[in-house]
Amino acid sequence: MSAHGTLEYPAVIADPRILELMKHIRDIPDFPKPGILFKDITPLLGHAASFRVCTDLLAEQLEGAQLDLIVGIESRGFIFGAPLAQRLNLGFAPVRKPGKLPYKCARVTYDTEYSTDSLEMHDDAVAKGARVAIVDDLLATGGTAGATAKLIEQQGGVVAKFAFVVELDFLAGRGRLGGGRDVVSLIHY
Ligand code: AMP
Repeated sequence: MSAHGTLEYPAVIADPRILELMKHIRDIPDFPKPGILFKDITPLLGHAASFRVCTDLLAEQLEGAQLDLIVGIESRGFIFGAPLAQRLNLGFAPVRKPGKLPYKCARVTYDTEYSTDSLEMHDDAVAKGARVAIVDDLLATGGTAGATAKLIEQQGGVVAKFAFVVELDFLAGRGRLGGGRDVVSLIHY
């Protein structure tokens, strides 16, 4: 059994729409390397109603947070973050792998479930005091989202919410983001 095991189970299914979403997430064993059970969200993206429901549910979770900006993490965070920004009438800022963004960047280095990597963001992307929601498809160890929070906070922004479609509870990434963080995930394994 892999570290992400065959014993995985959904911890909370609070909404029948969540159960429907889960039918469109495909498990790919040993991708991108042995021992990783990759949660492939492309079937969900290809299913119009599920993709729409994803945005609806994330928007419900972020309403009332008095946000100024959505930050999406390359690359699947862009797919969910951009429609969410439009739905909530907010701007969107991308966090990307090094060398992709054209203007002056802030950079952090971090560990993921299966690699060590760096992330960059334009150093004028976040206004001082701006309330930001960080959006990505999946929370695993929390390294990526935590690094993104660091980038935002370096620029004087406030990370008001983290929002994910999927959270791998058994990797305890939520804890790594720091106590007291407001983390919402639609689907838990
Ligand atoms: P982490 O930094 O460990 O929380 O990893 C989160 C990032 O890696 C997200 O951008 C995910 O898209 C990707 N990721 C990590 N583990 C998985 C997984 N098991 N299935 C799909 N994506 C993953």
